[in-house]
Amino acid sequence: MSKKENSAPAPQSDPSVSSSGTAVPSVPPAEHAKGNLNDIVNIHVDRAARLIGMPEDIYNILMHPKNEIIVNFPVRMDSGRLQMFKGYRVQHNNILGPYKGGIRYHQDVTLDECKGLAAAMTWKTALHDIPYGGGKGGIKFDPLKYSRDELERITRRFTHALAGSIGPEYDIPAPDMGTNSQTMNWVMDTYMNIVGALDKNAMRRVVTGKSIACGGSLGREAATGQGVVHCLVEWARDHRFDLQGKTVAIQGFGNVGSWTAKILSQLGVSLVATGDYKGYIHNPEGLNPHKLAEHVKKTGSVIDYKHSKALTRDEFFAIDCDIFVPAALDLEIGEKEARALKAKVIAEGANGPNYPIADEILRERGIDVLPDILANAGGVTVSYYEWLQNKFSERWEADVVAERLERSMKKNYKIMRDLAHEKRIDYRTAAYAIGLDRIQKAYLERGIWP
Ligand code: NAD
Repeated sequence: MSKKENSAPAPQSDPSVSSSGTAVPSVPPAEHAKGNLNDIVNIHVDRAARLIGMPEDIYNILMHPKNEIIVNFPVRMDSGRLQMFKGYRVQHNNILGPYKGGIRYHQDVTLDECKGLAAAMTWKTALHDIPYGGGKGGIKFDPLKYSRDELERITRRFTHALAGSIGPEYDIPAPDMGTNSQTMNWVMDTYMNIVGALDKNAMRRVVTGKSIACGGSLGREAATGQGVVHCLVEWARDHRFDLQGKTVAIQGFGNVGSWTAKILSQLGVSLVATGDYKGYIHNPEGLNPHKLAEHVKKTGSVIDYKHSKALTRDEFFAIDCDIFVPAALDLEIGEKEARALKAKVIAEGANGPNYPIADEILRERGIDVLPDILANAGGVTVSYYEWLQNKFSERWEADVVAERLERSMKKNYKIMRDLAHEKRIDYRTAAYAIGLDRIQKAYLERGIWP
């Protein structure tokens, strides 16, 4: 077979067309139906696979998740009626270790979204040299419309439905949009009660992102935001960009958005605009992220925060700021948003926030993008530390977790940056290429059975 036939297919010359030939819309969901995240992730894979000359056989394996699980299950509501729910778990790849990835509760969860997010976890854990694979799951429903008791029953029933497909050495879920440490505690408790009594405590690490009382790690809650900030600090050093006195706009003020804002504020970066599912707010003098987080805790949203002015979504994306952090849904930055953004750097807290066309426009405009699989890996990194602590019955001090996370994030930033500079490629392609190369080596050295 010629070299050409034996290596990964060339990336599509038209970035709006996926490897499967599906048209990928270049506009965000606010106006049109969302694109297919899985197709978009595969565009990044195509480009990186070609760069590293990945053999076509390995490429073909990696373009498909190993398992796609769909479960339908009934849950009793507070009213006494039963309601059916649809849940997903996609296990993309486990050549480097157990499947790992979050569980999302959101009304727009789809199988294709889980496939894209699961694949991105494979590249993320490989890039960060964490001995895990990639997975993702979720339930298609709006958690804000359900009581705490209902959420507990939904979570326990979902865990029961998935129990034969997850496990502490096989597939390890974690929090994502719409879920938190409480959700993980319920998953852990349900799973521990399903397995035999003798093994019960070894099952604690079936999930990460648990509360401290239930075996979680110090530093896990803030870890994703902290990781985003470590990458920004390194980028700022490279660009002689003094963070003190700079401004940031953050889309989404949940776990990732609020922690990013709080940690950046310690470095003198002021939050000038943010927003969530209800709307956007602005204060050019700066919003206090701690007080805003209290407001969100009380009211459920950033809107109506008293020291702010309301903004439209369009105004939000066009706001004057030095740094922009997407920390909400995927596929929020399309052509219009990419043209409007004023920031000098975008650090992707969210998974998959950019359409490929947005990447192109931002590149042309000289705006750097710190890609999701690099920048938001603080969460999975500290999840791995939590899993290790559970496995060895240890408790690590907060400073041990913080130091290890910082070392790891900064090291991986530098590896990505150096490859990008050496090959004159964008950061996203470099990040994917490093992850893909590690996985490719494992396949080549192990061989494919039988
Ligand atoms: P979260 O549920 O804590 O917060 C999500 C935020 O996004 C909320 O403020 C919500 O109101 C807002 N939001 C929802 N729909 C919106 C819309 N249509 N427009 C604007 N804002 C909207 O979730 P999170 O854990 O902070 O996750 C946010 C993103 O970060 C997701 O893409 C997730 O996959 C990614 N991520 C999370 C982690 C983690 O450790 N939690 C790790 C890596 C990546």
